[in-house]
Amino acid sequence: MSELRKDPVMGRWVIISERRSQRPDQFADAFPTVCPLKQPDCPFCAGNEERVPPPIAEILSPEGWSCRALPAASPILRQESRFEEHRLGMFHIAAGVGAHEIIVEGGRHGRSLADLPLQQVADVVLLWERRLTELGKDDRFKHLMLFKNHGPTAGEGTYRHPHSQIIALPVTPARVKDKLDGAKEYFSQTGRCVFCAILERESREKERILWENDHCVVLTPYASRFPFELWIVPKTHRADFPGTPEPVLRGLAEALKRTLARLSRLLHDPPYNFILHSAPLRRPREGFPDYWDTLDRDYHWHLELIPRLTRVAGFEWGTGFYINPVSPEGATRALQETADG
Ligand SMILES: [Zn+2]
Ligand SMILES: [Zn+2]
Repeated sequence: MSELRKDPVMGRWVIISERRSQRPDQFADAFPTVCPLKQPDCPFCAGNEERVPPPIAEILSPEGWSCRALPAASPILRQESRFEEHRLGMFHIAAGVGAHEIIVEGGRHGRSLADLPLQQVADVVLLWERRLTELGKDDRFKHLMLFKNHGPTAGEGTYRHPHSQIIALPVTPARVKDKLDGAKEYFSQTGRCVFCAILERESREKERILWENDHCVVLTPYASRFPFELWIVPKTHRADFPGTPEPVLRGLAEALKRTLARLSRLLHDPPYNFILHSAPLRRPREGFPDYWDTLDRDYHWHLELIPRLTRVAGFEWGTGFYINPVSPEGATRALQETADG
């Protein structure tokens, strides 16, 4: 029996259509990829530092460096010029101004973020915060995206070396705007942050909460679009990831490591993407002086993790509806039965 569920932030419908005969772990990749720990031609491996430009920032460890931010070798957007938008009749065009950085998650090849020691995962999260804070000072940027592509079918590049990416954009992406609008709308109707409301509700029901520590909750969202979709949400309300206190960042690192370890064990190192959703940079908007007035109260940063186990096809593209063959409750149960150590 299928069920339609509406996402409380985006207003988007999903169809949860579980097949009884299918166990959640049947989505596991049949052929997990095994990589060597060092590749002679990988520019991110420890020992190959001369192949890349000097790091923009790095966190050191007793053995050398723990993680480092590098300029992307083939940046999608470049930082050199000013953002100017022009019209070509009905079309808009702008120079590709922005920034693109690679966060190299340790010097060892082929390892997953889940396999790194907790201290090193925490270093990666601390470096994310540092770089996002720094890039936010550039007034040409309106939005900062931090994401990770893990595995070839999730868009991981040529080298299977653990890394995440930051892209600074001179515009606010439409999908981000939909999320912001959803949060603002909920706030204007209820006077509350929708993410705080979700946390409160989920903490009462428990059936979609996978794990929590003092600072963060890991949950499967009520209207999950994809099997094993997960959110990591800080317990204390905060719109911006930059400026998050260090204990919360360390709490996120622990939640991320444990969650990825469980996913990897249950689904045999599946390909996945995660995206850090933080409030956009509050640049003045002409004609809308009050535009950002409620953002601090209505938005709540969080990390969204999506294993790439199913493919988005014609129905989804045509309708914006998603069909999810694993209920979030079933996904939570399967992950809870899996060890995270
Ligand atoms: Zn490497
Ligand atoms: Zn909140």
